[in-house]
Amino acid sequence: MSLDQRLLDVLVCPECHGTLTLVKDELLCNKCPLAYEVRGGIPIMLVESARRRS
Ligand SMILES: [Zn+2]
Repeated sequence: MSLDQRLLDVLVCPECHGTLTLVKDELLCNKCPLAYEVRGGIPIMLVESARRRS
């Protein structure tokens, strides 16, 4: 499963507007501890659905 690099370039964290790094099937925020699931190639960009990394 891969995500379009151009899409990745325009996506930012909805919480802090930080840039994101795709790791396996998650988009990890580079500024805050949130991680957004990518489900079927679609990133779930919802703070409520995000995983908080410890
Ligand atoms: Zn963030």
